[in-house]
Amino acid sequence: MPRGTIRESLLSGLHVLDGGMASELEYLGADINGPLWSAHVLEDAPEKVVAVHRAYIEAGAEIIETASYQVSRMGYAEVGLEPTRADAALLRSVALALRAAAFYPDRRVLVAASLGPYGAALHNGAEYHGNYDSTFDELIEFHRQRIDVLASARPAESPDLLAFETLPSMAEAEAIGQALRRHAELAVWFSFTCRDEVHVAHGELLRECARAIADLPQTVAIGINCTQPSLVGSLIAELRAASDKPIVVYPNSGEGWDAEHRCWTGTSDPDVFADKAREWLTAGARIVGGCCRTRPAHIRMVAGLAI
Ligand SMILES: [Zn+2]
Repeated sequence: MPRGTIRESLLSGLHVLDGGMASELEYLGADINGPLWSAHVLEDAPEKVVAVHRAYIEAGAEIIETASYQVSRMGYAEVGLEPTRADAALLRSVALALRAAAFYPDRRVLVAASLGPYGAALHNGAEYHGNYDSTFDELIEFHRQRIDVLASARPAESPDLLAFETLPSMAEAEAIGQALRRHAELAVWFSFTCRDEVHVAHGELLRECARAIADLPQTVAIGINCTQPSLVGSLIAELRAASDKPIVVYPNSGEGWDAEHRCWTGTSDPDVFADKAREWLTAGARIVGGCCRTRPAHIRMVAGLAI
């Protein structure tokens, strides 16, 4: 779909995004404990990826994200895999999402290529603080490689948009802006992970980060993901103060991550998530979905708000 059409369509109404990919793959019995998290499932169990996409579309998602969050040449090199394999996995993730969408010819389902931050390829949780041991040019190159692969795909094999997500810092958002320079034709969204009501994980003000990328020709939405749901209402206000771009929010389920014991704690009630989603809509969000630990039941409740 042309970028202008996507931009127009996102400006009004509620658009339902999908929920977590990795945890849903786990429920289907896929092993996601390797360093590439859900990425190796693209090669080992592609039918499970399609099944997760279909579960979200049937729950009401109009936008689905590819299972490519962990796919990058650098991340693959860290575990001894060739760069060509990373490029192929990225394109394969798009093909699987398009295959799932094709099961619903009477629905308009957009495919967003999930592109994790530099820190996600380091496999050490660095995306949640953004203190990278890298230069700005290295950040640009990291993102440029994946952008070039996706931009070179044939139209019938291309995602509708690129979702840069779990971005921890202003620097990384600016590096992506630089990496996009030769591809004015692309549609992208920038989604930040935040540590409190006003700051991204690395410490800059979310409104300043949003201002830095709002005027790029590729930007069709700006938002928040992989963040506690309780923070999202305040963060939406920050985004509204920064720009009039459509706002995308897909927070975590509300369960807590216990880093010491490496497990999730607490529970997440889809009804409670939907109550919060209603508040996010009222506050001005246009695209709403879920990140870690959200499931089709959460998305079904969000989709119910749209009716
Ligand atoms: Zn998350």
